[in-house]
Amino acid sequence: MALVVQKFGGTSVGSVERIRNVAKRVAKTYDAGNDVIVVVSAMSGETNKLVALANEVTEFPDTREYDVLVSSGEQVTVALLAMCLKSMGYKAKSYIGHQISILTDSSFSKARIKKINDKKIRQDLNDRTIIIAAGFQGVDGDGNITTLGRGGSDTSGVALAAALKADVCEIFTDVDGVYTTDPNICETARKIDRISYDEMLELASLGAKVLQIRSVQFAKKFNVDVHVRSSFNDNPGTLVTKEDKEMESILVSGITYAKDETKIAVMRVPDKPGIAAKILSPLSAANISVDMILQNVSEDGFTDFTFTVTKADFKKALMITKEAAAEIHARDVLTDDNISKVSVVGLGMRSHAGVATRMFETLAKEGINIQMISTSEIKVSVVIDAKYTELAVRVLHDEFELSGKEVTVER
Ligand code: ASP
Ligand code: MG
Repeated sequence: MALVVQKFGGTSVGSVERIRNVAKRVAKTYDAGNDVIVVVSAMSGETNKLVALANEVTEFPDTREYDVLVSSGEQVTVALLAMCLKSMGYKAKSYIGHQISILTDSSFSKARIKKINDKKIRQDLNDRTIIIAAGFQGVDGDGNITTLGRGGSDTSGVALAAALKADVCEIFTDVDGVYTTDPNICETARKIDRISYDEMLELASLGAKVLQIRSVQFAKKFNVDVHVRSSFNDNPGTLVTKEDKEMESILVSGITYAKDETKIAVMRVPDKPGIAAKILSPLSAANISVDMILQNVSEDGFTDFTFTVTKADFKKALMITKEAAAEIHARDVLTDDNISKVSVVGLGMRSHAGVATRMFETLAKEGINIQMISTSEIKVSVVIDAKYTELAVRVLHDEFELSGKEVTVER
């Protein structure tokens, strides 16, 4: 008998009929003798609706109240799924974040899980009750409702699996697993069978929306094997797991793109120590993370300082940047949201040079201009004009032969 955590995303619980299907799958796992903890998201589109309501009320919604609001979508699905299982004759019980409790810090809308109190759910599990836990939410030390950031139910799932030392952690979604790139824009995209935590972290942070980044960090930290698979069939999906030799022999494992960033350029700032800090520290103080950063060589003691933030943070970031720009007497603040970030990711890059060059040459052949570049040990990202995103992804997918057999590096 195993302890199985099964997390179902918004599309998997998007209608009553789909909730019934989830209930059947859960029941099957339970009937096989396993203890089951189910984690669910809100019905697809619901969280977006709630966010839109908040934004309709005010331009900058209070974050405490924002969390009270947006966490409500998951309360609906846990109740519906628990009802459904009970009507099928199973022992099941819904739990929302603070009932478990999933203790987080107090950074509303982006809270981090600190501790999970598993006493109550352990008791229920011992009693062979199916636990239906609300994803995405927790409670801070003062009893305030918190949420874990968009896509946070994945993290709830992995965190529960880690805390309860589950034998299996399955993340059910609307795709068959993690792909070499987005199958919607590249027909030859292929499902990856196994991928390391670090590659998955890069893929997740670079725009592959299958898993929330924090869930992968959690999985890595606590060594949870995460099986990402479809809720609509029984096919094996992608196993996100510890890296091994075989994985490192693959040069590039995926190409991703993200269109959710905006470029902010502070024009003509004095090129002297402390300027980057002056621009960036008020942003980090406001909990806004900056992704790519570019500073040009200076001409006559002045330079341009460019960076990207997510579209969600953009309005606030622009306001803050304009204040900082005025303080340092910059000439202007320009923005461009017609950009996208395209990246290649692979463990093999650690030991093999030349991936960046191949990437730049491939883009150059298509006449695609590179606006910004950033790299890490296992990825290279470029910012390009958004209208070339699909083209860039396709040519890079071909260049690194991701559709066919894996390109393995020579040793
Ligand atoms: N319902 C939340 C969202 O849409 C959390 C999740 O689905 O993981 O972001
Ligand atoms: Mg999700």
